[in-house]
Amino acid sequence: MRPPAPAPHPETWIEIRPAGMYCVPGRFYVDPVRPVDRAVITHGHADHARAGHGAVAATPETLAIMTARYGAEPEQNRQPLRYGESLRIGEVTVSMHPAGHVLGSAQICLEYRGARIVASGDYKRRADPTCAAFEPVPCDVFVTEATFGLPVFRHPDDRAEVAKLLDSVALFPERCHVIGAYALGKAQRIIALLRQAGWERPIYVHGALQTLCDLYRDHGIDLGDLQPATAGRKGVARDEFKGEIVIAPPSAIADRWGRRLPDPVVCMASGWMRVRQRARQRGVELPLIISDHADWDELLATFDDVGAPEIWITHGSEEALMHAAAARGYRARALALVGYEEEEQ
Ligand SMILES: [Zn+2]
Ligand SMILES: [Zn+2]
Repeated sequence: MRPPAPAPHPETWIEIRPAGMYCVPGRFYVDPVRPVDRAVITHGHADHARAGHGAVAATPETLAIMTARYGAEPEQNRQPLRYGESLRIGEVTVSMHPAGHVLGSAQICLEYRGARIVASGDYKRRADPTCAAFEPVPCDVFVTEATFGLPVFRHPDDRAEVAKLLDSVALFPERCHVIGAYALGKAQRIIALLRQAGWERPIYVHGALQTLCDLYRDHGIDLGDLQPATAGRKGVARDEFKGEIVIAPPSAIADRWGRRLPDPVVCMASGWMRVRQRARQRGVELPLIISDHADWDELLATFDDVGAPEIWITHGSEEALMHAAAARGYRARALALVGYEEEEQ
């Protein structure tokens, strides 16, 4: 009897193409940045989940987010895959595992002839009341982001950041606190963290966040009393927002919409707020360092947790993370994928 063939190394069956990471024996892309025939999607952020693909496999939550953003697709083109479920595509077994990044975010595990690669998309390791916690999946190659892949990035405790916000609200009862937060994930997490911290008043949300807040609610995430923040609406007194908390997309806080709020304290919730200059550039008075990505220590700890001998790095500060991983004995490779933005900007 012949001994079984050794498992084929993922570099022999995963290709980096202009549209993204391509799985040859399954004939699909993971998070393609261009429209393709078949895609497997890690999560709903716009740079990972783009419009225009043919068949899409993703978690039911991610598919719902894509439908909310891009409109409904014929059902036969959508393959929902829950955490822990697996699906055969071509010669490859595909399964989804929580990434802890936003609602529905998944690490995608690809298994081919005994070899296993996990594409984690974006991930974080901190507890988040709005999504399932990251689960380490043992594999031969772990594909990681490097958004905060520099030693300067060490995120503080999110509860301390929310406490800072509530202290400021108590200190300035005549002012309105407006928080810039990314529409998918960050906004809902801030709201949930405020509820955990005991803030029971209505929270006012910019119209651009309403759909995704409703979607979170439909998936069982309790956000409490949310009211539309119709700043400057005719007939509404500016005073209405005194002492209140308003959540808006980052682009709205500094524009005309934001200026209609009564003497706003401009806040921004992002891992980038660790960089004071970024906060200053954006006119942020109260930076809140709250991130949906792993920080430097968490990236490196995750490599140990998943136990993969090899790490592939997709986007962010690839160089620094690659060197740190190599120094710890991992075989590390920068994929230099393009098209993924720093979504927390
Ligand atoms: Zn993301
Ligand atoms: Zn990303």
